[in-house]
Amino acid sequence: MQVFKFGGASVKDAEGVRNIARIIENFQDQQLIIVVSAMGKTTDLLEKVTKAYYKQDPILPDLFGKVKSFHEQMLDELFDDKNNPIFDDVANFFVEIDWIIEEEPQDAYDYLYDQIVSIGELISSRIIDAYLRVVGVKSLWIDARNYIHTDNNFREANVNWEKTQRAMESSIPALLEKNLLVTQGFIGSTSENFTTTLGREGSDYTAAIFAASLDAELVTIWKDVPGVLNADPKWFDATELIPELSYLDAIELTYYGATVIHPKTIKPLQNKGIALAVRSFLDTNSKGTLIRATNSTLPVSSFIFKVNQVLISILPKDFSFIVEDNFSHIFDVFAKHRLKINMMHNSAVSFSVSVDYDEQNIVSLIKELKKQYDVDFKRDLELVTIRYHNPQTIERVLVNKEVIMQLQDNYTCQMLIRSVE
Ligand code: ASP
Ligand code: MG
Repeated sequence: MQVFKFGGASVKDAEGVRNIARIIENFQDQQLIIVVSAMGKTTDLLEKVTKAYYKQDPILPDLFGKVKSFHEQMLDELFDDKNNPIFDDVANFFVEIDWIIEEEPQDAYDYLYDQIVSIGELISSRIIDAYLRVVGVKSLWIDARNYIHTDNNFREANVNWEKTQRAMESSIPALLEKNLLVTQGFIGSTSENFTTTLGREGSDYTAAIFAASLDAELVTIWKDVPGVLNADPKWFDATELIPELSYLDAIELTYYGATVIHPKTIKPLQNKGIALAVRSFLDTNSKGTLIRATNSTLPVSSFIFKVNQVLISILPKDFSFIVEDNFSHIFDVFAKHRLKINMMHNSAVSFSVSVDYDEQNIVSLIKELKKQYDVDFKRDLELVTIRYHNPQTIERVLVNKEVIMQLQDNYTCQMLIRSVE
């Protein structure tokens, strides 16, 4: 059995959906689970819908209208038979959102977010399933919420692995005997049957959850890049494809911010020894990258860039040492404000961290830290991580830059830098 994952970029328009169908037609003799994300930029839009609803912003009908018209156009282009039940199906999902937004918001934001934003994946999986059937693929739509059981940590739900595996094992193998299965990435369900989401870009993780629970042979993530590259082409001109990658290097690269795969994806696959292919849906002849158990190290240095970083320096007000008690308190404050630390460094009297700039969360974080510490911050920084660094690679990223903070071990060099005029 294999698991395929198609992200939002692969289904951003009708041609994308037709392309997926062409890829899948070549695998009809396989047992296959297809995990799909919301189409194009739908998740971003639904996020805006949720915010507007929560704030009762008059822009709400416009935003929701955009989500609807995008999908209506998609349906129109894909389905010649206007009596295909998919038209009603999609309309019914929109009614679910209508029901939520009709009334003033009473529930917590994170809960509402998951109920609204999850509709993107529910709709896209329905459309892809319906289209596959039109072109003659024996597809069956399944609701991931019946299988992926989570706690109720809305927007970043944690998977209950035992319950999930039991649910999958008891019914999915029989379904796979007769059908190819299409399901949603990114979503799960609590024990009270409320929808949860697994964190932004979490569909890769969903593919890994299905694969690990059902002992798949292989997971393939189909992307608009040729595979895992040694840098994001957005920041670097001369990128190289990495044909093979160890689980450990893949975990390290995603941990430091390589966005090609969701960081939670690798571990469950590594535990089960399941390989992960990253391939291009645009060039299906190329093999892409295979992540598996191998001792080979990266053939080239890899660069990960994170822009829009803020350096926050925390100092005890009385110049006393920073000790364990301070650390645990400081980490708690960061977790509470949902700020993920990208790099950290401590000296005797200060503790410095770099985080992504998120105005709202940072203002409230600093306010809380200031009760106990002196807090300093610098904006507009870039964080560069080089895996398998050497003096040349370091020099290469420092052209017209100055280093604010640097950490280095044998494998990895992290530098927080800023442009010099
Ligand atoms: N649609 C969700 C997102 O954009 C999940 C995913 O794409 O993996 O975050
Ligand atoms: Mg997406």
